[in-house]
Amino acid sequence: MMSEERSLNFIEEIVEEDIAAGKHGGRVLTRFPPEPNGYLHIGHAKSICLNFGLAQKYNGQTNLRFDDTNPVKEDVEYVDSIKEDVKWLGFEWANELYASDYFDKLYEFAVTLIKKGLAYVDDSTAEEIAAQKGTPTEPGKGNEYRNRSVEENLALFADMKAGKFPDGAKVLRAKGDLASPNMHLRDPLMYRIKHAHHHRTGDKWCIYPMYDFAHGQSDAIEEITHSICTLEFVPHRPLYEWFIEQLELFPSKQYEFARLNLNYTVMSKRKLLQLVTDGFVDGWDDPRMPTISGLRRRGYTPASIREFCERIGVAKRENMIDVGLLEFCIREDLNKTAWRRMAVLDPVKLIIDNYPEGQTETLHGENNPEVEGGEGGRDIPFSGELWIEREDFMENPPKKYFRLGIGTMVRLKHAYIVKGESVVKDADGNITEIHCTYIPESKSGNDTSGINVKGTIHWISTEHAKEAEVRMYDRLFQVEDPSNEDGDFKDYINPNSLQVIEKAFIEPDLLNAVEGKPVQFIRKGYFTVDKTSTPEKLVFNRTVTLKDGWVKK
Ligand code: ATP
Ligand code: MG
Repeated sequence: MMSEERSLNFIEEIVEEDIAAGKHGGRVLTRFPPEPNGYLHIGHAKSICLNFGLAQKYNGQTNLRFDDTNPVKEDVEYVDSIKEDVKWLGFEWANELYASDYFDKLYEFAVTLIKKGLAYVDDSTAEEIAAQKGTPTEPGKGNEYRNRSVEENLALFADMKAGKFPDGAKVLRAKGDLASPNMHLRDPLMYRIKHAHHHRTGDKWCIYPMYDFAHGQSDAIEEITHSICTLEFVPHRPLYEWFIEQLELFPSKQYEFARLNLNYTVMSKRKLLQLVTDGFVDGWDDPRMPTISGLRRRGYTPASIREFCERIGVAKRENMIDVGLLEFCIREDLNKTAWRRMAVLDPVKLIIDNYPEGQTETLHGENNPEVEGGEGGRDIPFSGELWIEREDFMENPPKKYFRLGIGTMVRLKHAYIVKGESVVKDADGNITEIHCTYIPESKSGNDTSGINVKGTIHWISTEHAKEAEVRMYDRLFQVEDPSNEDGDFKDYINPNSLQVIEKAFIEPDLLNAVEGKPVQFIRKGYFTVDKTSTPEKLVFNRTVTLKDGWVKK
């Protein structure tokens, strides 16, 4: 499902110019650099599709690099999930790398800068450093540590590494420009002391490089030709270039694009983690989460996510994308691929009074009417007692009601035309049974009745019905941009984002449904088997409705 030919995005234009100019010998090497501190979300999918997509398009390669410079928040569970998600999206990395692989090199780089008089050890507290930094309109102030000699800095930095100081006692800073309008150049931190265990390097280090001291050099070490990241890193670029220049490293270049913002959700890993730890959702892969694993469990396909990323394009300015577009992409995909089945979610009994007592027949329905030949089909048992959807019947139907009413006719999908005759109600006036008659000559595929009806409804033979739990999902938040409202973003969670139908009736063939193979419940939407489903207790997730039916509350 590829979009029509489109014009080049601005990053592709840059890459094509570079190739034409013979830069780096025409080589293209990109990287996707997640921090393993959470699960990937749809925003990361955008970055993945862009980085891997560029490499594919221009015969290049992409590295998967874990930016694991912060030992406290990182974990192998996240590393594993990230690898799984990138693969699932359909991409293969050239090398699996870790910023922590470069800790020795980065330490050497820091020593080089100290020797050049471009870095110093500072004993100030974080508060003092912040106070000395000035403001965007006022220059920063230096302190006594800034004038330490190269020898003293080398000795102190070695002692920092050797574990002679407690956390926070000292930092290594670059000697930048305290008057620069760019705050990132005002003597940024390069190293901090943190006596913490790292998921890869163990207890080898008690000093860790700052992200800004690791990122650009990691790109340079790998000889990344086009380092693509999101707009918030624009002001960091001069710093990365300064380090690379001073250290005489490979001149990797950074290009920035607008991050993906999606409405009715939150996307920062920090916030997603809160939803998980505070129990608002059932884990990182809850089908309401905007995570790749959540979308997968919800029934999204890799193709639909890639198509979504292609359609939103690569922008230079921040904007908000409507989640309706994501839903459109999965609907388009599943319409072409999902097999059709029947399920009754809110059942009421329909009794065909003139159907021979005790008779059953086996009817037939194609798997996929969108494909020539229907991709085969399945048997559907039919009998004189059926479940139909409560909303498909009205006792006193208005004029344009094309479903079943008393005195009106409707077709039962793959079966016969029936006419509503009477109802049975309980003491509270609720309908418990609908009685109808059927037209024996109106059988689908062999209809000689000459009767034309406008509506078709789905059904399940009561005697043959199987049961399943069906989980209906809605948007996780009630407002478009929960992060931009007063108070806590969690105050805006949609209390009805999950509705569980404990007992829906499904056609027997749905016992063969498997995880990862979505189905369409005719007239109800697209569904997929949940990972918690068992043969004894089937569980389906609604991936998306058939039409965009969402109304602002
Ligand atoms: P978060 O704030 O959600 O934790 P992050 O930017 O800190 O996101 P990283 O793991 O550092 O997450 O990101 C890996 C890559 O994915 C980076 O290059 C980053 O720019 C990109 N990325 C993250 N979020 C988005 C987004 N919403 N849209 C596009 N790219 C994104
Ligand atoms: Mg981050």
